[in-house]
Amino acid sequence: MEELKPKSLNFLEEIVQADLAAGKYPQGIFTRFPPEPNGYLHIGHAKSICLNFGLAQEFGGKTNLRFDDTNPITEETEYVESIKKDVAWLGFSWANELYTSDYFETLFQYAVQLIEKSLAYVDDSSAEEIASQKGTPTAPGVPSPYRNRSVAENLDLFQRMRAGEFPDGAKVLRAKIDMSHPNMHMRDPFMYRIRHVEHHRTGNAWCIYPMYDFAHGQSDSMEGITHSICTLEFDVHRPLYDWFIEKLEIFPTHQYEFARLNLSHTVMSKRKLLQLVNEKIVHGWDDPRMPTISALRRRGFTPASIQNFCERIGVAKRDNLIDISLLEFCIREDLNKSANRYMAVLDPVKLVITNYPEGQTEDLLIENNPEDESTGKRAVPFTRELYIEREDFMVDPPKKFFRLGPGLSVRLKGAYIIQCESFELNEDGTVKEIHASYIPESKSGQDTSGIHVKGTIHWVSIPHAEVAEVRLFDRLLIVEDASELGDDFMKFINPESLQVLDKVYVEPALKEAQVEKAVQFMRKGYFCLDKDTQDGHLVFNRTVTLKDTWAKQQK
Ligand code: ATP
Ligand code: MG
Repeated sequence: MEELKPKSLNFLEEIVQADLAAGKYPQGIFTRFPPEPNGYLHIGHAKSICLNFGLAQEFGGKTNLRFDDTNPITEETEYVESIKKDVAWLGFSWANELYTSDYFETLFQYAVQLIEKSLAYVDDSSAEEIASQKGTPTAPGVPSPYRNRSVAENLDLFQRMRAGEFPDGAKVLRAKIDMSHPNMHMRDPFMYRIRHVEHHRTGNAWCIYPMYDFAHGQSDSMEGITHSICTLEFDVHRPLYDWFIEKLEIFPTHQYEFARLNLSHTVMSKRKLLQLVNEKIVHGWDDPRMPTISALRRRGFTPASIQNFCERIGVAKRDNLIDISLLEFCIREDLNKSANRYMAVLDPVKLVITNYPEGQTEDLLIENNPEDESTGKRAVPFTRELYIEREDFMVDPPKKFFRLGPGLSVRLKGAYIIQCESFELNEDGTVKEIHASYIPESKSGQDTSGIHVKGTIHWVSIPHAEVAEVRLFDRLLIVEDASELGDDFMKFINPESLQVLDKVYVEPALKEAQVEKAVQFMRKGYFCLDKDTQDGHLVFNRTVTLKDTWAKQQK
């Protein structure tokens, strides 16, 4: 018998396994996914979702969905709803739906405790003054003149900040740590700032808002999060995360960092994605060219393909760039097994079968999915006049062209072998119409003709054809790695990322296609019906081509 090899664990799985083995968490582990509701989730977030929910599933634990809503300026309820939809669609259920804003009162009390311990103070300095006092990584900072205010004065001022007595920017609450600490985040970081803005959940109840560093760890602690997983850039925040928890003497949660996912030919920050939406480079957050979960769903990606992608890229400790073709490979692999096959002609030219009776329709039975017999067969109407793909005919074909040309024979998928007799040209020299004869004994499945042909092409019966619009997508950016480009990424937008074909002919069964459920257009790729389909006007998105054509083009 084959030996069962244990699956190799990533570094986070190793940590969890060791913690459990040491008996640290008899109740099981607790993780959380903490998005800020300031945009739609992207594939990078999917990585974090799969990791957090995946660890809890694997080791027996739970995962909270916590909206990190401490910045009222950029956050909206629309984003909250989209995030919930996306996480659920990816296939995960959260133990609790929570909001950092629900902790505002507790966080305020925590801040009061730190003031009482002389570990926090109200600073009247301007943002510029504070920045200039911060020092540099090699030079120590200068203490603020307000650093030694009495506990009583700090308590009074902090209460009055809350009461709305001061305008934005007039005061901040800072932790009193060490102005010469080698880690700049430990040089008396901000805990609270004044912002007279309405919050999407708390309305006008608050005009002071906690900073990320003061809110995040305390929220983790309140929820009893055992493994707080975030991306590498928070590595330098960890000493501060630990400092607050230690000084407040609350549940000791631990932060672990992993490398964020960077994907080629796209950008992956909500702020940049919002810029693409606002500047109308794309038609919204779910434009199928976007790397958002909602765009991938609209484009025909499945939750399984995204989970599989996240599994394959693994969990790294160092930043790297993943080629977008790996994501495409994952959806192709999934759809090859699950998508039904149909015929659609993207660039049509008319083919007349001269010896086929006029007015006759034959229902040919074609397998829905050769990879899955249980999907059965469907009837596809065959008639004398068909559309075929323009590229499947050549007036002057080279030797190894196994499709149609004068005198050449080919099989029509699921139907008959035909031989080309003649063709007509338009005035501009393009092919207008092709004439061929069919061999009645060559019917697929009951072929007694003894003729062997090398090529098979797809077709659609003209009287039965449905016209459709098809949208083809390409890379959003023409540059591979945009992660270091900053705002310059806008200079690298691919002007040909969207191509619209407005006269595609598809077989009648595709009238029943469902939005977001991908099907295969034989020889052409995977496609799915778009939500823009209306009143019989079919719109399809190409999910992905059948083969990786991008790598070839680049050579
Ligand atoms: P963005 O810059 O896109 O807004 P963010 O990190 O600010 O990203 P949050 O909403 O704060 O977004 O993130 C929620 C969680 O998702 C965090 O734990 C964050 O570390 C994680 N995350 C965000 N982007 C990525 C990424 N590219 N790869 C892996 N995890 C990510
Ligand atoms: Mg953010």
